[in-house]
Amino acid sequence: MSAPSVLERIRALDAYAPGLSIAEIRRRHGLEKVIKLASNENPLGASPLAQEAIRRNAGLAFRYPQGGNPRLTAAIGRLHGVAQGRVAVGNGSDEIIDLLIRMIASPGEHNIVCCEPCFSIYPIQARISGVALRRVPLRPDFSQDLDGLAELTDASTRLVFVTTPDNPSGYCPAREAVARLAGRLAEKAPQALLVVDEAYMDFAKDEAALSLLHAGELPENVAVLRTFSKSWGLAGMRVGYGILPAAIADGFWRSRLPFSVNVLAEEAALAALSDHAFRAATLETVREGRRMLAEGLSGLGCQVWPSEANFLMFRLPEGRDARACFEGLLGRGIIIRPLRSYGLPEHLRVSVGTPGENAAFLRALGDELAAGARP
Ligand SMILES: *Cc1c(COP(=O)(O)O)cnc(C)c1O
Repeated sequence: MSAPSVLERIRALDAYAPGLSIAEIRRRHGLEKVIKLASNENPLGASPLAQEAIRRNAGLAFRYPQGGNPRLTAAIGRLHGVAQGRVAVGNGSDEIIDLLIRMIASPGEHNIVCCEPCFSIYPIQARISGVALRRVPLRPDFSQDLDGLAELTDASTRLVFVTTPDNPSGYCPAREAVARLAGRLAEKAPQALLVVDEAYMDFAKDEAALSLLHAGELPENVAVLRTFSKSWGLAGMRVGYGILPAAIADGFWRSRLPFSVNVLAEEAALAALSDHAFRAATLETVREGRRMLAEGLSGLGCQVWPSEANFLMFRLPEGRDARACFEGLLGRGIIIRPLRSYGLPEHLRVSVGTPGENAAFLRALGDELAAGARP
């Protein structure tokens, strides 16, 4: 018997595990109010100017977007002081990651190097493409072994992924260390592109000292990715961007589906860029909430990792089971993120919410621990 089927490597795939949705947990637990701190979304919601732009442009839903989203790439070029021709925009930075892999690395011929664990889209899209993957374990303190990444590259390496600040730990390497990695790659694997994913960089205490985008010209073998999903509050609109070497940007625009950033997403992103008040409030809320959450978690006896992002990774006090605690919190109307899909069954990740959400989470976790989330 034969029937249509998908490739073996797709059947073998562990698909991306998204955070649970509020509607799902409301229904499952019969709850009125559910707080979601699972997907690192903006605690203040969407910028009022972006919401207004979506409403104002709703009537344009029948139009195709302008090919290549030139207004948006121009605005992003101005924001970072780079030539518009080097700006890529996609349906989330997920689309840019996927396309970089597909347009740069050939299955059976090239390899991709990244950390273990890391943001799961890199390994998943590499596996879908059938490109060999080489992983370098994080150090015990969750810092990235950048020398180890360089050592694993060879003449067939085409992409190296580094996340700064990292997901799920929140760790951020020094900019000089990332620049040094770019230099080593240029010598050892001159055809490899170093992709620096700065999805959370604007939450860092000192972005100007940590981001490659604030250090003058990018090295020629480096691409930097950012997204409108986190600090800009537009995860549901799906817009991400990258600053790419010119030749890679040229390939990107040949490969991208013509209209993957839609009319309303483009208008929302442009409006968000102009909403300085919302952005300042977001960064303030996240930096302050991160401090408060870290203090509260430590106070409950949890181990908390230092984070430059809008989330915290933590471990429960000795003897407490992470899965049971996660489930217990769901019953109390709080969704956080178990990290089993990252290969970290004992670790949990919580996104920074509003002050009220952070307090509700800490209260629920305290109650849960007191009730005894034991194995
Ligand atoms: C959230 C996130 C992104 C952004 O994804 P989008 O597709 O832009 O929503 C990229 N990289 C990392 C590490 C992330 O956590």
